[in-house]
Amino acid sequence: MSAPYVGRFAPSPTGPLHAGSLVAALASWLDARAHGGRWLVRIEDIDAPRCVPGADDLILAQLARCGLVPDAPPVWQSRRQHLYEQALERLKAAGWCYPCGCSRKEIEQTLAAQGLAHARHGERIYPGTCRGGLAGKPPRAWRLRTVHASGQGVQIDWTDRRLGPQHQDLSRAVGDFVLKRADGLWAYQLAVVVDDGEQGITHVVRGEDLADNTARQIHLQRLLGLPTPRYLHTPLVLGPSGEKLSKQTGARALDTSDPLSAVGAAARVLGLSAQGRDLPSLLAALVEAWRARWV
Ligand code: GLU
Repeated sequence: MSAPYVGRFAPSPTGPLHAGSLVAALASWLDARAHGGRWLVRIEDIDAPRCVPGADDLILAQLARCGLVPDAPPVWQSRRQHLYEQALERLKAAGWCYPCGCSRKEIEQTLAAQGLAHARHGERIYPGTCRGGLAGKPPRAWRLRTVHASGQGVQIDWTDRRLGPQHQDLSRAVGDFVLKRADGLWAYQLAVVVDDGEQGITHVVRGEDLADNTARQIHLQRLLGLPTPRYLHTPLVLGPSGEKLSKQTGARALDTSDPLSAVGAAARVLGLSAQGRDLPSLLAALVEAWRARWV
């Protein structure tokens, strides 16, 4: 028998919800309800310098205004750091991660010297300098190998419920990636995998901008012996000039003074047309529309 459905919405409290984040929240809530499952909220506040005090409570209040109330008290990643430490220790013991002594500048110089100064989403692909040892440099960050002992790059195949079959050669696409940063902070990739595993998440529904992280997360799940959830990445809300709507690009906070129209607008991005006189009846109609399409 398959595990009972557990879904989640995992906002980073870097500001209030905007129209795009409501789409992801609504989709994950609808999928949980349409499956008769549980829906959790996890506040991803490990990148402390980027977090805005009070944004967590504001996000929870905005969700509640829109009728999206988690089935268990939310959890905060900042209070779960011992779990990330344990996972890192396991990966170290298995020889899958190694300390890296490279600064950003050194990585750029190595890539330039190799004629490989390409970047992916602004991130340099790590050239593997410290993979065989630190060569006397002090350790800064911890990285995860994306190459097998045989020298073969790790290949990940997965299927998104909306985007279909996906493939990524991790060594070429992202390179050995950081699990614990030089400033001592945990990387999103490790924390999200540990928490999805520990919370028994069976279905991840989130914005399409995160789809590219999925192969890294599946690699980590396999190394940590965790099941891989099913993934559905939702359409993004684009700004006036076609850019992704995000807090970084100055997206306006979601206006929840009229939750019926906020939820209705998010539902239209998801391609759902349903009507309701009030919020409960709109949400109920949307659960039916979602079920007909995705379940
Ligand atoms: N905390 C991430 C964000 O707000 C989302 C993580 C996830 O859903 O996997 O972008």
